[in-house]
Amino acid sequence: MGNADEYDVAIIGLGPAGATLARLLDPRLRVLALDRKDGGAGSFRKPCGGLLAPDAQRCLARLGLVLPQGVLASPQIFSVRTIDLALGLERHYQRFYLNLDRHRLDRWLESLIPATVEVHEGVSCTAVAPYGGGHEIHYVEGGVERIAQARFLVGADGARSRVRRSVFPGHRISSYLAVQQWFEDQNPRPFYSCLFDCRLTDCYAWGLSKDGRFILGGAYPQRTAREAQATLVGRVAAWGFALGEPLGTEACEVLSPAHPWQLCPGAGNCCLLGEAAGFISPSSLEGLSYAFESAMALATALNAGLEGAAARYRRATWGLRARLALKMLKREVIMRQLPRRVVMGLGVASIERWGRAPHGGGSRPG
Ligand SMILES: Cc1cc2nc3c(=O)[nH]c(=O)nc-3n(C[C@H](O)[C@H](O)[C@H](O)COP(=O)(O)OP(=O)(O)OC[C@H]3O[C@@H](n4cnc5c(N)ncnc54)[C@H](O)[C@@H]3O)c2cc1C
Repeated sequence: MGNADEYDVAIIGLGPAGATLARLLDPRLRVLALDRKDGGAGSFRKPCGGLLAPDAQRCLARLGLVLPQGVLASPQIFSVRTIDLALGLERHYQRFYLNLDRHRLDRWLESLIPATVEVHEGVSCTAVAPYGGGHEIHYVEGGVERIAQARFLVGADGARSRVRRSVFPGHRISSYLAVQQWFEDQNPRPFYSCLFDCRLTDCYAWGLSKDGRFILGGAYPQRTAREAQATLVGRVAAWGFALGEPLGTEACEVLSPAHPWQLCPGAGNCCLLGEAAGFISPSSLEGLSYAFESAMALATALNAGLEGAAARYRRATWGLRARLALKMLKREVIMRQLPRRVVMGLGVASIERWGRAPHGGGSRPG
């Protein structure tokens, strides 16, 4: 394309999904990639648990990537302490997650983007609008508004995707407000915990030791999120969690698709990737594997030609969307108290901690 501001593909958002796509696109395509993060201390950081699940590890293996040590956090934890605070039950289950520093993961993935892609960091996409056969992208860079045009637009801009809201304005995806607080970790042994409390949320909460800090967070209904988090802090402290002073609080929307038709891969000359498309597990809120997998699918579709790419991408993500539909059903079971009471009460698939009471039970707060 001749004009300096015209591109074949524009990618909005360079989280795990957008950065992976940018890395995999055919170098003959003229690609613009925008992200509001930059390397600075005050840069946007995605609130995240930073746990890399086996499905995401498999994606990295498919991509031929090995994690540099600098991305790993400390320590690595092999079990999850699952607690139902309302039922007063605690069990331990084996898990195979890698404990990562999420911001360093994002920066590392961005560092792999080849020089053939025109990357603009620290810029915010403010609007997208149709023009001719493509899209016009408005963004602010260094306080100056700029406009670019692209034949194909990719929204990889996360849960509150501006691209999704602009190009598919009627589309709704169920969501929660995720609130995470960072504490000085004062627990005698680091651990990872999955917390249920039906009095606070019909989703779940989590606690995780990471690099000398302890993250305590939860996904709550939007209106009650802040109070619910404050109540959670008190309840886990009563359960025996040793939390020091809170060092910081972060919050963001997290999607939890409730029906298969809430997923939004895109159409025409605009596709959505990762969480922007609603590709996140509603049962665990695990999203990194879907970000990587959808990026691989769209790269394959776009590298075969821009014409018909959206249809090829929809076909290629059929299996991913079917798996998410199964997770929606799973969520209906595991987020309910009765099945959880049965499974945790019987200790199905739980591990016995050596030297602990066989039921692994924690102390019930009074
Ligand atoms: C609290 C919390 C904990 C989580 N924990 C885990 C976990 O432990 N493991 C796991 O697998 N998943 C976890 N998830 C889910 C996971 O974080 C997401 O599914 C994943 O980040 C999706 O990747 P993405 O690339 O699609 O979007 P994102 O990671 O959200 O990236 C979007 C990118 O777009 C950029 N952007 C957004 N808007 C604009 C704009 N207007 N202009 C320019 N740039 C823009 C942002 O800077 C960002 O870099 C968690 C989510 C939350 C909220």
